[in-house]
Amino acid sequence: MDRDKILLTPGPLTTTQRTKLAMLKDWGSWDSDFIAVTARVRHGLLDVIQGQASHVVVPLQGSGTFSVEAAVATLVPRDGHVLVLDNGAYCKRAARLTTLMGRRCTVLGFDEAAQVSAAALHDALQADPTITHVVLVHCETGAGVLNPLQQVADVCAAHGKGLIVDAMSSFAALEIDARKIRFDALVAASGKCLEGVPGMGFVFIRKAILDACAGRSQSLAMDLYDQHSYMEKTGQWRFTPPTHVVVALAEALLQFQEEGGQPARLARYTRNYQTLIHGMAQLGFMPFLEPAVQAPIIVTFHAPGDPRYEFRAFYEAVRARGFVLYPGKLTQIETFRVGCIGAIGPDEMEQAVHAVALALQDLGIESGAPAV
Ligand SMILES: *Cc1c(COP(=O)(O)O)cnc(C)c1O
Repeated sequence: MDRDKILLTPGPLTTTQRTKLAMLKDWGSWDSDFIAVTARVRHGLLDVIQGQASHVVVPLQGSGTFSVEAAVATLVPRDGHVLVLDNGAYCKRAARLTTLMGRRCTVLGFDEAAQVSAAALHDALQADPTITHVVLVHCETGAGVLNPLQQVADVCAAHGKGLIVDAMSSFAALEIDARKIRFDALVAASGKCLEGVPGMGFVFIRKAILDACAGRSQSLAMDLYDQHSYMEKTGQWRFTPPTHVVVALAEALLQFQEEGGQPARLARYTRNYQTLIHGMAQLGFMPFLEPAVQAPIIVTFHAPGDPRYEFRAFYEAVRARGFVLYPGKLTQIETFRVGCIGAIGPDEMEQAVHAVALALQDLGIESGAPAV
């Protein structure tokens, strides 16, 4: 079979043929056609969060982490103090890059099976007035937990602290309305729920704080203030743009709008999620999270308790049937993950569950039930 495998991974993910076909052309970075594509993408991205009045959007070359790092370095003064709300692997990554950027960083830890707590944030801000910024990961892709963005944003606003949101795996799928939620920066990327290809991130920055960001970044390439000023002046990217990624994202944004925008995308991913959970339950598999804290983005399952289970063999057996799973990212217990996002629907999810059933048969495993 030379058909593309379906990626049940949280980026890169499965894209439509239309999005792939958009990349079959070369573009000059200075050419007016490409400048128009960049402008269209920036406008379309701001529309997703109703942010035209309050925010600018700054695209940046690289994977999503590049944009998180750039946001921290651009927004937080060198003598600033960042509090990271930590309930998983991507939170820990944000804390690490904050420290490497030379900013003082404090981590407020939570269980990786639970949401972070806005009440605990309130107490922490009360206890330490030197904190200037808070970092929140909206959907913690490590386990799949949905964190309480609105509550955290309200606490930050009440205390006058800057909020930087890593919304990488939630943007365009879960509602984020800049008119209701106050944040200084929100970061996402091309190859997640917008269903573009990977290669660029983008950061929404609140207009009111933009000017104060000049000169804060110690990096040339990752300075979002400079990137934004140059783009405003010329319409061009400051350094070589990922041209094919940008045109693919423009095409993906069109399809996002045609589908019905964020509510329609959330509805499709929720159907994917329900099909997955239901089918896997019939095979005996147990999700790691309580449904109340689970985002319909990526699901962590306990590994089967059967001694014949081994992730690599299981992965290969599912892969042989055309579906690519994702390893677990939890430190203590053995798990694997299945993404619900990408240009797929419930039919593909049903087929994926069927592939999992056949893979279990291959390995001689009767049930996906975890060890008790
Ligand atoms: C995907 C993702 C990132 C970025 O990861 P990259 O590998 O750099 O693209 C950051 N945060 C979260 C929550 C993510 O899901």
